[in-house]
Amino acid sequence: ASPEKILSVDNIEVIYDHVILVLKGVSLSVPLGGITALLGANGAGKTTTLKAISNLLKAERGEVTKGKVIFKGEEVQGLSPNDLVRRGCIQVMEGRHCFGHLTVEENLLTGAFTRRDGNAAIKDDIEMVYDYFPRLRERRGSQAGYTSGGEQQMVAIGRALMSRPTMILLDEPSMGLAPQLVEEIFEIVKKLNEEQGVSFLLAEQNTNVALRYAKYGYILESGRIVLDGDAAALRNNEDVKEFYLGLG
Ligand code: ATP
Repeated sequence: ASPEKILSVDNIEVIYDHVILVLKGVSLSVPLGGITALLGANGAGKTTTLKAISNLLKAERGEVTKGKVIFKGEEVQGLSPNDLVRRGCIQVMEGRHCFGHLTVEENLLTGAFTRRDGNAAIKDDIEMVYDYFPRLRERRGSQAGYTSGGEQQMVAIGRALMSRPTMILLDEPSMGLAPQLVEEIFEIVKKLNEEQGVSFLLAEQNTNVALRYAKYGYILESGRIVLDGDAAALRNNEDVKEFYLGLG
């Protein structure tokens, strides 16, 4: 039997502004408890794929015109982004979206907006986030806009954790970060996966780091999956080496 899947994307097509065809039939899946990478160059359609899953395309005048998305065995196309968050799937946007004028801790609290389980549980989870990100504990009272790029990426992930997700769609966590910080962020992704059982779909241009942390990867080119396989196999694939790992 094939392993249980938490997410399946089945042959989706996405169009912006009614005419611009960006995803031309994309299929992928993430096993329950897995870390799966979605790789590809700038403009290949990684962000569009994540937004199609989390139903965030509407604000961009985009729509899924074919195919379906199944999360935990149910089709989720009609749901609002918030409903999907309540079911356990949340996207962390590219570019460390946080509220610059709010403190780090206030940013984390905004991540609990879908919850109805009361302040004590939320307080416990803030502590849980600080245990994963000790730097954020130190910076809890600082305005998020004045923290470093790495700290803002931590705030963005920490904020997502406050919704108690079972699946995180993580968009370009490495973007603009120094190599050591990239490693630090990915180590935390690994820990969250191992300790909390969070499944991840990681969109990354940094193929090298993504394939070290993910078990499986898909390569997207111009809106189509052109190659997929176990991370180890992709790392040894000649085309991947030449075009994506810079080792050719
Ligand atoms: P990046 O690393 O830049 O985020 P990506 O692989 O995530 O790249 P997308 O952002 O999904 O790629 O973009 C895929 C294609 O869709 C690009 O050609 C882009 O110009 C186009 N696109 C993205 N958003 C829109 C939009 N709102 N309207 C029209 N075209 C768009």
